[in-house]
Amino acid sequence: MIKEFVDVLIIGAGPAGTMTAAKLAKSGLTVKIVERSHFPRYVIGESLLPQSMAHLEDAGFMPALLERGYQKKIGANFKQGPFQEFFDFSNNYTEGWTWTWQVPRDDFDNVLALEVQKMGVNIEFGTTVTNVNFEPEHPIVQVVDEAGTHKEVQSKFVVDSSGYGRVLANHLDLNEPSSSPVRGTIFAQFKPENGVVEGEENGKVTILVHAEDVWIWFIPFSDGRVSVGFVGNPEVLKSPDGDDETHFLTLLSQNENASQMIEGLTLCMAPKAIHGYSKGIKQLYGKNYVLTGNASEFIDPVFSAGVMFAIESGAVAADLVTKELNGEQVDWEQDYQQHMLSGIDVMRTYIDSWYDGRLKSLFFSVDKPEKIKRQITSVLAGYVWDRSNPFVSRSERTIDLFVELTSGETETSSA
Ligand SMILES: Cc1cc2nc3c(=O)[nH]c(=O)nc-3n(C[C@H](O)[C@H](O)[C@H](O)COP(=O)(O)OP(=O)(O)OC[C@H]3O[C@@H](n4cnc5c(N)ncnc54)[C@H](O)[C@@H]3O)c2cc1C
Repeated sequence: MIKEFVDVLIIGAGPAGTMTAAKLAKSGLTVKIVERSHFPRYVIGESLLPQSMAHLEDAGFMPALLERGYQKKIGANFKQGPFQEFFDFSNNYTEGWTWTWQVPRDDFDNVLALEVQKMGVNIEFGTTVTNVNFEPEHPIVQVVDEAGTHKEVQSKFVVDSSGYGRVLANHLDLNEPSSSPVRGTIFAQFKPENGVVEGEENGKVTILVHAEDVWIWFIPFSDGRVSVGFVGNPEVLKSPDGDDETHFLTLLSQNENASQMIEGLTLCMAPKAIHGYSKGIKQLYGKNYVLTGNASEFIDPVFSAGVMFAIESGAVAADLVTKELNGEQVDWEQDYQQHMLSGIDVMRTYIDSWYDGRLKSLFFSVDKPEKIKRQITSVLAGYVWDRSNPFVSRSERTIDLFVELTSGETETSSA
């Protein structure tokens, strides 16, 4: 059995893995990523949040990302029938980045992977982690490549960034049922029939309310393609006869706003369906390991927060791993698990109140005081650790309070 030694072994080269790798490499540690696929590879999760931009800059990714000319994202637009509300990130309450990007993830993840390779990180593509042994002082990770060659990688620390691969959650029995009900999704991409259409609308993620328990996303890219997906009640989203494409197009044709938004566009990707994307987890760390990004917990895509949590967890985990490997005491419970869970819990409150209707009634209500709108915008921009914002520090109570104050009043502006 071939054996290799590194300081840190990372499983998976998505944004959680590459963010962790970049920061660890900067601190002088030897880092290897084992990635089962070959990049560029398709993955869903294309609308980013401004909160991630400082981390991308700090890790040294910005020059390479800026060169790609991704679609600048300036805010989030919510529409229900004739009603709409736009949350402009430049107007947010928390200090920090006020814009981000909408990215085809195959390209975005590939840029991050190329950059960490330049920083000295060894990425072994086409190689899958099959087993992990935490018994020895330094864990041993077993991998297999596409030629069937088995290898062992020994490291001082293992970071699981395997997303839905959920390597350590499965291996160490850390999976827990999600707090969210089982929901489904069906999504695809469209491209313009007659060249790229420029316009301010391209800089917004648009969320359409389709039914009480189903919503639709529209995420335009800079090359003219638009990512479109339905999320919600799996019974509505499951095609009755297994023909996902016909079902997807039929659902779109039933929504007036959606029909307008895909005018002049043709389908350029076969629709994909996933049922049950939410994942729960018992703990985010243990002796010599940490879980980052989707390998830990994932709730729901409605507020585009998945990559933000992946990047935040990777950045925080990398700093703590560096400290630990330098012989310093690390409080993983407080500085990692509680930190991540506090942000995830704020987002969970927003997600739950979106699905139970409270947040929709707040979004589409008249005359929200400007400060309230800025505070909500901050959360939608990913600033879920700014405890000076009451929509963060007392999210549930604050949402309820304003829903009560504005109940019955619905915006009259036309979409
Ligand atoms: C319908 C839907 C829509 C979404 N929309 C958005 C959105 O608009 N914005 C947003 O921010 N998020 C969105 N998300 C969430 C987003 O997809 C994820 O949160 C994000 O991709 C997580 O990044 P990651 O680095 O943790 O994992 P990933 O990006 O999934 O990367 C994990 C990597 O690990 C590799 N891997 C897995 N198993 C193994 C193994 N055994 N050995 C080696 N390698 C392995 C995989 O090949 C993969 O490359 C959406 C999710 C869903 C379900």
